[in-house]
Amino acid sequence: VEDSFYYTDVGVFFGEKHDAPGTEYSDPYFGGKGPSRNSCIGCGGCMVGCHYNAKNSLDKNYLYLAEHNGVQLLPETRVVDVSPLGTSGDGDEGYRVKTVNSFAFFSKKPKFYTARSVIFSASSLGTQSLLFDLKDKGSLPNISSDIGNRVRTNSESILGVRYPGTDEDLSKGIAIGSGIHIDKNTHIEAVRYPDGSNLLSGLFTVMTGGRPGVVRILYWLKAIIKLLCTQPISGLRSLLPWRFSRETVIFLVMQTIEGHINMRWKRRWYWPFSKSLNSEGKPIPTFIPEANDFTGKVARATGGIGLSSLSEIAFNVPTTAHCMGGCAMSDSPETGVIDAKNRVFNYKNLYIIDGSMLSANLGVNPSLTITALAERAMSFIPNKVHQIKT
Ligand SMILES: Cc1cc2nc3c(=O)[nH]c(=O)nc-3n(C[C@H](O)[C@H](O)[C@H](O)COP(=O)(O)OP(=O)(O)OC[C@H]3O[C@@H](n4cnc5c(N)ncnc54)[C@H](O)[C@@H]3O)c2cc1C
Ligand code: SF4
Repeated sequence: VEDSFYYTDVGVFFGEKHDAPGTEYSDPYFGGKGPSRNSCIGCGGCMVGCHYNAKNSLDKNYLYLAEHNGVQLLPETRVVDVSPLGTSGDGDEGYRVKTVNSFAFFSKKPKFYTARSVIFSASSLGTQSLLFDLKDKGSLPNISSDIGNRVRTNSESILGVRYPGTDEDLSKGIAIGSGIHIDKNTHIEAVRYPDGSNLLSGLFTVMTGGRPGVVRILYWLKAIIKLLCTQPISGLRSLLPWRFSRETVIFLVMQTIEGHINMRWKRRWYWPFSKSLNSEGKPIPTFIPEANDFTGKVARATGGIGLSSLSEIAFNVPTTAHCMGGCAMSDSPETGVIDAKNRVFNYKNLYIIDGSMLSANLGVNPSLTITALAERAMSFIPNKVHQIKT
């Protein structure tokens, strides 16, 4: 499938070819209205936060520009309640918003705001938790009962290949640099973590096939014994954390195949004191045979040791960085939570604009789609007209 190989398009500033990595440039993007930027030094840390002013994170673009246009940002502030003002109950007269200090354990210092409009933008799981809670406690009782349905994960699986003792430093470069499509439904990207992120090795173990569930644990034990018998030294090193990020290529496997879970707001048997999100329905697959096959081939062809995700084997729990849906965009409250302009059904001046709005399995990393839909949603909201009183 070499024809499907591609280098990723990324939200990173690389500067001019002739300049050294890390060179500072005055606002390369917004004609002088944005912040200065430094070119990428290829440290591999993009996924855990860029310390070098090279990644196009929101504080360098949307939030930066908004703040300079007069928006007030309130960091470390958690929204815990939103309820309609007035008697109509549909938000026609605006909303009362209650916040607390996110990081305070005891003195949470509640604050109250009133707003004409409210946009929920707390991510798929964050918005679902908040809206489930507000529906449950009666602040926003008319949120569609479709909330929580069809939460998707790109049907993701995370594998890898480790090269114990290699002299090459695989932690250098941008975090996700290339990918291929191994078939029409399955797409794999090569991922790295920055030097020193070795505790992440705890997420991985020897690559294991077999059926998901208890039987897979037996396959896993067999795979460990086989590895330690056939390659005792490098096999043991592949299971230890030291030098993990320098020696490992992670494979992020994503599938476009239809699959979802449904979220419900319930008390868990082991924590009956409060409600939380619980998943229901057919689980997302924890074993993608094509992904194991690919990883095995890479390991054999390049002299490495294949890795699987530990939670997939030991607990039959898939891993994802791409949780989407739960407040789907739809044409009626029977099948979704918001309309095609991101307006919450049954309320006025209430919007949801984040990953929870997605109503399909994208099969690719979702940030760009979320951004595009957010810009589209904003395009339906007229600019505020500043009226000058004379
Ligand atoms: C490790 C990792 C790597 C990823 N890599 C990529 C990638 O390479 N490419 C890609 O496209 N996608 C990637 N993703 C996915 C991408 O980051 C998410 O899909 C995207 O950020 C979701 O956007 P969002 O606006 O829905 O939510 P978020 O970006 O998560 O923003 C939600 C915000 O709301 C805040 N919040 C939550 N609850 C409340 C509350 N009650 N009150 C106030 N604030 C609240 C949160 O603190 C957060 O700041 C990655 C995700 C992870 C975890
Ligand atoms: S590799 Fe990623 S984290 Fe490192 S400097 Fe470049 S953009 Fe920033």
